[in-house]
Amino acid sequence: MANKKKTHWYNYLWIWSIVYFALGFFNILFAWLGMIDFVLPLIFAAVFGNKWFCNNMCGRGQLFWVLGRKAKLSRRKPAPKWLSSKWFRYGFLVFFLTMFGTMIFQTYLVFSGADSLHKAIKLFWTFKVPWKQAYSGSILPDWVAQFGFGFYSLMLTSTLIGLIVMVLYKERTWCTFCPMGTMTQGICKLKAK
Ligand code: SF4
Repeated sequence: MANKKKTHWYNYLWIWSIVYFALGFFNILFAWLGMIDFVLPLIFAAVFGNKWFCNNMCGRGQLFWVLGRKAKLSRRKPAPKWLSSKWFRYGFLVFFLTMFGTMIFQTYLVFSGADSLHKAIKLFWTFKVPWKQAYSGSILPDWVAQFGFGFYSLMLTSTLIGLIVMVLYKERTWCTFCPMGTMTQGICKLKAK
């Protein structure tokens, strides 16, 4: 009899990835939940020195696999070598962190009162899309929502890039240059020394 791999609850976290974007469409404060995906891989790498999160718990990586392999949306062609080269991976990480810093600065401007809340998201760090439906005020200060808009933009943009490379190349091509993957790999390497 064929050996069937046991499935766990965390094998279904790809559903959470879809739910996350749906929630953020209606209320931008839910974008904060994406911080879990930012912090957990780093904790796993720093504490256990492994990429267990990437291999088992990343809903985004799973989503690319489900859509690419199971729904057959991927051409499953080898990606160009430069996409997984060191200079590109680290270059993209620096770019990503710079954009993250810019988003934090924008949040700070709203926090300090130097700017007002922008109810919009930015796709591919360029295209501004009105996202007014996602926020009509709350008991929280505006900077909390501003962070939500910025973070949601980052999450959506990186997922869209991941989907594009999933269609063009192999299912999880995004993982070869994902900034979180690059950071966790770096931490694991440092821990192994
Ligand atoms: S490399 Fe990035 S997208 Fe891929 S599994 Fe790890 S954290 Fe998720």
